[in-house]
Amino acid sequence: MNNQRFLSSVESLGQIGWEDGKGLYRTAFSEAFVKGREFVAGLMKEARMDVRVDSVGNLFGRYEGNNKNAPAVLLGSHLDSVPGGGKYDGHLGVLSALEAARSLHERGALFCPVEVVGFNAEEGGDMGGTFGSRAVCGDVKSLPAPEVLASLNLSAEKIASAKLDFSKYRAYLELHIEQGPVLWRRKIPIGIPTAIVGITRYLITMEGQANHAGTTPMDERKDAMKEAVKLLARWYDQVDEMCGAEKAEKNEKNFVCNVGTFALEPGSASVIPGVASFALELRSTDDTVVKMLAGKFRELLQSMALPASMELMISKPAVTLDESLRALIRDTCREMKIASLDMPSGAGHDASPLAMKIPSAMIFVPSTDGISHNLEENTSNGDMLLGVEVLEKTLEKLAGYTSHRS
Ligand SMILES: [Zn+2]
Repeated sequence: MNNQRFLSSVESLGQIGWEDGKGLYRTAFSEAFVKGREFVAGLMKEARMDVRVDSVGNLFGRYEGNNKNAPAVLLGSHLDSVPGGGKYDGHLGVLSALEAARSLHERGALFCPVEVVGFNAEEGGDMGGTFGSRAVCGDVKSLPAPEVLASLNLSAEKIASAKLDFSKYRAYLELHIEQGPVLWRRKIPIGIPTAIVGITRYLITMEGQANHAGTTPMDERKDAMKEAVKLLARWYDQVDEMCGAEKAEKNEKNFVCNVGTFALEPGSASVIPGVASFALELRSTDDTVVKMLAGKFRELLQSMALPASMELMISKPAVTLDESLRALIRDTCREMKIASLDMPSGAGHDASPLAMKIPSAMIFVPSTDGISHNLEENTSNGDMLLGVEVLEKTLEKLAGYTSHRS
């Protein structure tokens, strides 16, 4: 691999959509996104890859290798960012994949085809998270309103035609920043995700009665806000009970939950809230744990004094990553004499939909202070370079001559 070439590509792509003091604004389908994709396409052409952009905006660069009829190894990540994101989430994985493939190609070491991908719209938005990778997997189930589709230059036909024939692919590899503090704190350079959490979201709506906040006696109010807060206090008592400090150590239940929105209607300081609604998000690498938690929440909801509903918004199952690919990555780390850690991924990734189609695995590199989705997001040059080296050596085991000689 060429360290300088790789690091300068990370730096240059990190400038496209960067706003000083605010972070990276290279959101899916934006002008900055298209510019970033053109920049990476330019690097792919310079590296003598066959380059194409598919019908939903994903970028592909391909080497045929020596045996072009063999199924390809696909590797990459996403090129879009959250608004105000950092310079490493997603695009580090695309550029690492490019450097690893390019380096093997330049050494004449590629036996089978290798394809580098920069996915569009992993971070959510109108099309939902991991849109680009779900589109290639034929896994886009619900579409937004036609005018939203048209504004993104998309159509049902375009989404359908992005689907890949996975009999022509044999594995997917994705390098990504950890986006959490585990590797950084423990000073371990490489994480090997065992599974990617499933994400389930419910919309909870508590129904009270809006009324005059000054004239309605306290004991006659049907205050939706008050009841929702009581509900959440009881819920979090149960959550703390299930994964309190000493239990978290053992990682018994292995889940997280979040209430990140809370809305009141009609939303006036002088009116008793008639409706309180919030989103409850549950994540775990074990779908039965999510089911158990949802059941507990529903029980609690039914015991409250006001009527309430619990409506499923999204449900993405947990995904187990391929054991033999993970073993290959572990072996590579052992050969390089560097530490690696098997760990779950608490964030969703493009590898989730891909893992439903072909054997898939990920390589995590440390996030400084565990910070991500923030302009402060950082991974040291040393850690990035180690990550690319692990990726390249793993790719060589999968697609290189050495692996096909015996
Ligand atoms: Zn990402």
